[in-house]
Order: sequence, then structure tokens, then C-alpha cells
Amino acid sequence: MLMDKIIGIFSKDIAIDLGTANTIVLVKNEGIVINEPSVVAVEYNKRSYGRILAVGREAKDMEGKTPDRIRAVRPMRDGVIADFDMTEKMIRYFIEEAHKRKTLIRPRIMVCVPYGLTGVEKKAVKESVLSAGAREVYLIEEPMAAAIGAGLQTEEAKGNLVIDIGGGTTEIGVVSYGGLVISKSIKVAGDKFDVAIMEYVRKKYNLLIGERTAEEIKFQIGSASMLENPPTIQVRGRDNVSGLLNTVELTSEDAREAMKDQLKEIANALKSVLEALPPDLSGDIIENGIVLTGGGALIRGLDKYLSDIVRLPVYVAEEPLLCVAKGTGKAMEDPKLLEELTID
Ligand code: ADP
Ligand code: MG
Repeated sequence: MLMDKIIGIFSKDIAIDLGTANTIVLVKNEGIVINEPSVVAVEYNKRSYGRILAVGREAKDMEGKTPDRIRAVRPMRDGVIADFDMTEKMIRYFIEEAHKRKTLIRPRIMVCVPYGLTGVEKKAVKESVLSAGAREVYLIEEPMAAAIGAGLQTEEAKGNLVIDIGGGTTEIGVVSYGGLVISKSIKVAGDKFDVAIMEYVRKKYNLLIGERTAEEIKFQIGSASMLENPPTIQVRGRDNVSGLLNTVELTSEDAREAMKDQLKEIANALKSVLEALPPDLSGDIIENGIVLTGGGALIRGLDKYLSDIVRLPVYVAEEPLLCVAKGTGKAMEDPKLLEELTID
């Protein structure tokens, strides 16, 4: 017992939001120490087959620009672990970075994983974290962490609905009495918006652009509903017909049109969750409304778009990109939450 207490005082608890697009690491009493894209750049040549060149932002900067022998991969891209080995290396890298210069006592680590992961995938994450030096590992589900991190009163009898729109998945959860009552995960989120923008620009303007450019378009002008002063953006790519490099001006309307099917899929998923809602929770959701978290929450006018469809108030959480990490951190710090929310 005494030993446990001493270990508790000296070890640094770590919370990790292992997202399909970004990984955030939070250390107890220090806050966020890592916030980097979940990307690994690997070199494949005869001498160094599979050697890791970069992880995180540096690796993401290489995406779409590397020669054949270098590949920048997103090991968790669609909310599944596409490459176990790479995922393990990425987790280990981030943990080592976060745990540098720290005490010798191995940390307890809580990891928030995408809701849809299979048992095998969850086990792989756990093993990676253990082999990276954790003393103990706990997993938490994304909608739960998002709700806590958004500041919702998850422990109360009142129900709350949270939608986390990440890179690979959109996860919708209804939380009441400290647990998930309903949840749904679809593989339509930020990445699909990017692909839709690429296709739209190719079809409408004959312009070939890469995913990075598409994401930039989404950041700059992406919108889900009409805007008062719609922004525009100059986009560079290659003309699909002439083969020459070209510049085209896109409007916010273009981006909205490009993303409309994906927006609709998210709205439909939300509707299906509302349809499955135990009737007694209706009042709570009508009163509390819906909270958006994850990077996708930053799409302009998404709150209004969803609100018009389901006729409920919709709010964007504060710092939506950080909600899951903060929620995981809170769950880690609170022994009661840790006990209740840890999944196998
Ligand atoms: P994950 O949890 O899956 O790692 P995040 O919550 O970190 O995902 O969100 C990443 C997604 O959010 C990416 O698809 C990214 O393009 C998108 N995103 C981030 N900022 C914005 C923004 N300002 N507008 C639109 N989309 C954004
Ligand atoms: Mg996330």
C-alpha cells in the first residue's frame, strides 16, 4: 500500500488521444506535451527496409511529396489499425518523447481509441503501450472521453449527446449516468471530406490536386451552410486535360457542394441515433442540445447545418480538437472515472 502511494506520487500519469489524424499526449500536472499528426514516414530501400525517417508533423509534411522509396503512412487512417507494426512504432515514439527527462518510475497510461476498434486492435494498442514502458494501460472509448472533455456533466442523471468528427471516423454518443447509452461510429469524417473535395475539383475544374491541398481548401473555405462573407481560395494543381499546371479560384459554395454527401451522411447518422434514443432521454437532449467535438467541428456553419436538420440546438465545444485528450486526462486523474470507464 505504502509503496503504491509512493509510486503514485513520483510517477507521471499519461493520457493519450490516439486519433486517426492527430495524436495528443497529456502528462499529469504538465498538460499537453505532444500534439502531432498520426503519421509515420518510412524508408524502403535495400539497405534500410522499413526504417522510420520521421513521425508526426515532419512526416505529415512529407505526405504526397516523397520519392517512391519513402512512404508517409497514416497507420490508423480509417479508424482501423491498417498497419500494426507502424502503429506500435508511432505509439512508442510519442510515449518516449512525452516521457523524456521524467522519473524512472514507469507511468500509468490511459489511451482513448476510436470507438470502432476490434478486440484484436485494442489488444494491439495495449501491448504497444506496455512495450513502450507503461506500468499499466487503460483504454477509454472516444465518445465518453469527448463528452467529458467538452465539459458535459456526464456523471449526472441528465443525458447529453456528443458528436466527435475526427479524421477517419465520426462518433456519436449519448451519455447518461456516467456511461454510454447509445453510440454509433461511421467512417465518414475529415478524410472523406478531403477526398470529396479532390473529386469535385477534378470534375468541375479539370484540376488534379492532392489530399493536402484538398485539406487546405477545407480549412480555408470549407462550410456546411451559407456564410455572410464567403471566403475564396486560389488553388494550384495540374490540368487534367492539358497536363499543364494551373490555378483556379474556388468559393466557399464550391467546398459546400463538394462535401454535401458526406455532410448528409453525418446528419443521417445523427438522425438514426435520435431515433434509437430511449424516449425518456428526449427531454434531456432537447434541453441540453448537441455538442460537437473533434477537428470536423471547426467546419464553418456545421452547427447550424445540423441544427436545421434535427431542430435541436447544436454547439461547438471549446477547443474541439483537444476535447478527447482533455477528457482522457480527466478520466485518468479521477479514480472513480478510471474504474468506471476503462474498457477491455
Ligand atoms: P482524430 O481524432 O481522428 O485524430 P481530429 O479530431 O484531430 O481527428 O480532427 C482531424 C480532422 O479535422 C482532420 O480531417 C482535419 O482536416 C479536420 N480539421 C481540423 N481543423 C479543421 C478546420 N479548421 N476546419 C475543418 N476541418 C478541420
Ligand atoms: Mg479524435
